[in-house]
Order: sequence, then structure tokens, then C-alpha cells
Amino acid sequence: MTVSTDLMDEVAIRFDSLENKSTPINDKSPTTKHILKEKGQREVFCGLTGIVWLHRKIQDAFFLVVGSRTCAHLIQSAAGVMIFAEPRFATAIIDDKDLAGLADANEELDKVVSQLLNRRPDIKLLFLVGSCPSEVIKLDLSNAAARLSKTYSPKVKILNYSGSGIETTFTQGEDACLKSLVPEMPRVDNKANRQLLIVGTLADVIEDQFSRLFNKIGIKNFAFFPPRNSSNLPEIGSNTVFLLAQPFLAETALELEKAGAKHIPAMFPFGVEGSYDWFLSAASHFGISESKVKAELEPYINRAKYAVDKNLKFLNGKSVFFFPDSQLEIPLARFLQNELGMKLLEVGTPYIHKKHIDKELTKISSSAQISEGQDVEKQLDRCTNKNPDLIVCGLGLANPLEAQGFTTKWAIELVFSPIHGFDQAGDLAELFARPLNRREKLEGLNRNSQFVEDLQ
Ligand code: SF4
Repeated sequence: MTVSTDLMDEVAIRFDSLENKSTPINDKSPTTKHILKEKGQREVFCGLTGIVWLHRKIQDAFFLVVGSRTCAHLIQSAAGVMIFAEPRFATAIIDDKDLAGLADANEELDKVVSQLLNRRPDIKLLFLVGSCPSEVIKLDLSNAAARLSKTYSPKVKILNYSGSGIETTFTQGEDACLKSLVPEMPRVDNKANRQLLIVGTLADVIEDQFSRLFNKIGIKNFAFFPPRNSSNLPEIGSNTVFLLAQPFLAETALELEKAGAKHIPAMFPFGVEGSYDWFLSAASHFGISESKVKAELEPYINRAKYAVDKNLKFLNGKSVFFFPDSQLEIPLARFLQNELGMKLLEVGTPYIHKKHIDKELTKISSSAQISEGQDVEKQLDRCTNKNPDLIVCGLGLANPLEAQGFTTKWAIELVFSPIHGFDQAGDLAELFARPLNRREKLEGLNRNSQFVEDLQ
């Protein structure tokens, strides 16, 4: 095993699942009756991608992928960073000797971890991240993490989770990572003082904005999870309530509930409508009235509406088709429909966690096709037949669709950009307007050059 931080090509992953069929689900619930469930070939990144934003957030953590050169190339290129100073992720490469069983992979891993921790005394939390190759050779990383924790405790905490493409898609890596952190959160008796936990990785600038707004509406006892520093893991108790900031944290939510915390059902804080509902839902659990929330948030709401409206005229009436990618699709589609007047043709998402997304689903027009999972060829046919003005999809689909004359938005950009909350609502609208604007300008240029050619 060797450690690699090479910078190489971008890798998108294609999966072939055993089943290959589309099934409209026969559910009587008003919010699921029009959901199309699909299984088949899908086009998404694996869960290793989450390291890109997680390593920036938890500033004393290190992510050691136990994988192949492909895994190393994926995170290096997705992170888009140069190898300057000291990155906080790397790959312990499983080589031919490990694969052939000629070397003891556990011994090799211990050596790599020892080298790493000797060289980097600043690491306080080390994640061993599983991959497809580590799964294939059945390397038990939870045992390895427990063994190494004993060796390096209390200086370094060592945890593990899987980012493998066999088990996870794109944003599920964050879910697996946060789930592994929940058992480390200090347990407290907080019966006398209700505490709010905001769950999901947010850019620091957004966290600071949200902190100001929670204080304004009168919620003082709150914490963000994950924290910026692993030694500041928030406490948890039976009087902890939590708001999800991201729609892809089903496993983490379950783990928090097992620890006694209660989930606050809410829309997600995208756009004005979602952000307002998110703060209001939290406030209602702290006995704060809607009039107080409204009064405090009004200037932010007005400013956000003004910023969103700049793109309203341009986007109003345009149609959009979402391919499944990050699980952000349903809240973002609701924003485009309700605040920008866009027509939703299909909203595809990898998974629907009904409990978390129900409130969002009730806000989506019944004429929109919601689909869960993917059978990519069938979905491409539906998409091209519907001829949308804008397609939101992964990198692997965007180029061929652009070549066919469609306008696309890379879904990955929506995960990497700060888009939560009132102050970002205008930028969020702009992210969808930009590719359409670019297309219009290009077509205008083409028309002009044709006109000049005709004159000559
Ligand atoms: S974990 Fe699997 S899908 Fe992801 S980069 Fe490594 S080999 Fe590819």
C-alpha cells in the first residue's frame, strides 16, 4: 500500500444494477401517488466525492481513502486543488500485492497510518474511508479503526465509513461520515434547556448568517453538526431537536433519533419559501410566535425576493428536467416552480426519504413527474421527447446533451456552491439562469454571423 495524492482526470461512474425496470408505485398517499420508481443503469458519482466539502469543513480531520488509483484520481480532480502545503485527504493505494493476498492489507494499512500520523501531528480525527476495492478484498475497516484507535488514543480519534460506489452515491458519503460521528457526540441531560442542532455541512459564511438569524428570532441554544473542529462535537440529549440543512442525511437522522434527538419536519432552506419555513419550523419548537419570526426575518425576505425577481422575467414559463444526482433535486425544483415560475417536466432524484421530503413534495405541482432511482436510457428518452428548455444533470450526461442542442446545468455545481438561506436565494436563481443566458447569447452570435455571411 502506498499513499497517493496525484492530480489526474475526472471520473464519472456508471453502474449496472441487476434489475432493469420501471415501476410506477401504487401508493395511496397524496404525496407519492405520482412517483415513478426506476432501477437500472445510473450515472452518478460515488460517495467519496463528499470528502471534497467535508475536509474543508472539519479543519482538524483527515480523510484516508483505502482504495485504488481511480479513487485517488476522483477526489483529487473533484476537489480541484493543487498539491500545495498539506492536503487533508489522501488515498492508501491497494496495489497488486494486496489484491492478490500476498501482503497483509491490515499490516500495510497500519504502516501507512503510522507514517501519516508521524508526519502530521495536527490530525485529531482520522477517517478511514472504504471504497469498492477495499470492499472487494473484504478489508474490515471498522475493525481496523477500532484497533488503530487503541494505539493512537487519546491523541487521535480514528473512525471509518464507506464511500464506495457499490454502497453509496454522491452525497451519501456525507451521510455515512456524519453517521459515524454521532456515537462520538457527548450525551447530556438537557431536559431544562432545549437545544437545536443544525445538521448538514454548510459553508462557514452560511453558518454565520444562520447563527445571526437564529439569535434574532430568539433561539440561543443551537449548534452546527458537523462542527468546524472535531473537539467541538455538539452535545446531544433527550431535549435536543434537529433541523436538517440537507435532504440527503437519512442515516444520520436515524442515528440522532436513536440517541434521543427529535427531528423537526421542515422544508429545506433553499429560496425564500424554504428558508422561511425552515426558520419558522424551528421557532415553533421553541414557543416563538410566527409574528415574531416574520417581523425579524422581513428585511431578509424582502431583500431575497428582490434578488430572486431579477431572474423571474427570464425564467418564468421555461421548462426544466432534473436527472437524479444529489438528492437536492426536489427542494430545488420547488424553488424554481414557486419562486421563478418554471415548469417542472420531470424531477428525478436518487432516493426519496419520505419523512424528510414530504413537506417539499406537497408544494410541487401534480403535473410534474417525480421519479426515484434511474434507468438512464429510458430517462434520456423521456427527457429528449419532452424537449426541456433546461436540463439539470451530472457531468457525464451534460456534454452529450449539449451536443444535441440542449441547455444543461451541472448538478454538481449546486452542491459545491453556497446556496442555502435568504442571502443566497438570488445567486441560486442566477445559477439556473446562467446557462440559458449563455445559450441565448451564443444563438444571437450565430444569427449575427449568419446575417453577415448572407450580406457578403
Ligand atoms: S470508490 Fe469505487 S466508484 Fe468510487 S472512485 Fe473508487 S472504485 Fe470508483
